[in-house]
Amino acid sequence: MTETILEVKNLEVVYQSKRNILGGVKYVHAVNGVSFKAAKGEILAIAGESGCGKSTIAKTIMKLINPQHGEIIINGQNALNLRKREDLKAYYKNIQMIFQNPYASLNPKMKIGQILREPLEINSDYTKDKIDEIVLKKIHSVGLDETCLNRFPHEFSGGQRQRIAIARALVLEPRIVIADEPVSALDVSIQAQIINLLKQLKDELNLTIIFISHDLSVIKYISDKIAIMYLGEIVEYGKTEEIFNSPEHPYTKALLSSAPELNPDNAGEKIHLKGELPSAENLPSGCKFHTRCPFAFDRCKEEFPEYINFSSEHICKCFLYK
Ligand code: SF4
Repeated sequence: MTETILEVKNLEVVYQSKRNILGGVKYVHAVNGVSFKAAKGEILAIAGESGCGKSTIAKTIMKLINPQHGEIIINGQNALNLRKREDLKAYYKNIQMIFQNPYASLNPKMKIGQILREPLEINSDYTKDKIDEIVLKKIHSVGLDETCLNRFPHEFSGGQRQRIAIARALVLEPRIVIADEPVSALDVSIQAQIINLLKQLKDELNLTIIFISHDLSVIKYISDKIAIMYLGEIVEYGKTEEIFNSPEHPYTKALLSSAPELNPDNAGEKIHLKGELPSAENLPSGCKFHTRCPFAFDRCKEEFPEYINFSSEHICKCFLYK
């Protein structure tokens, strides 16, 4: 049986937007009752259009945002209840993040050696020699060598910087890594190298990776499971192979059919979505996808669909099936 290492339960995040000229406050419902589990050694991808709430989930798990409701369970503890400095230090030893932009996520005034040493100096009692040993091991594990340690971030390319950011995330030997669009700021030729590196490190270290992306071809290659998000909700969840071979939710079908296909014989039926993603300030009633769904009918505007099981790990919210 696979060991669950991270469980998110009923997460709800509402941002308060600035007052408008009439003094009114608006609320942006970024994440609406999201639940999922991630097992040891697996890559769980969270996919969806920009603004669907993927990055908000990542930041909430990293405790950079306080949710209105929900639980984030790691090691049997709800991370949202952790307040003491020593508890937070222990938490961040277990979970680390790789950011989208390797140009902004490394301190330009610090040498790479300092950047990699800092998490160990703050979070461990290791001696200087032990810290040097770990830093060296990690920089090698991401395909760079020790000459990098005495240089500044601006001396590296985007791909090399993202390797350094990965090494920094791994120096504390976390069990979970949140990778928020880790390749979308990189050239296409470099993306494959970073994706392969993450996959290799996941296997070597038995890491759990929450991989956030809007790129379905990357997700298909790297992930074991996928959660498809629409307007702050997971509308379909399952094993990657199952979702790609037999998507059930109309939104998943539309996303998959929008991927470019070079061979017209493999293109299949296209589902074209109507309009833009609605604003999270004014969520549609009923099924939130009804304003764009080509199959919507009256019930979809009035009631919230519940999850339906298609297999033990494949679920989807849609009235077409019940
Ligand atoms: Fe479309 Fe209705 Fe299914 Fe929502 S519940 S995805 S609107 S058919």
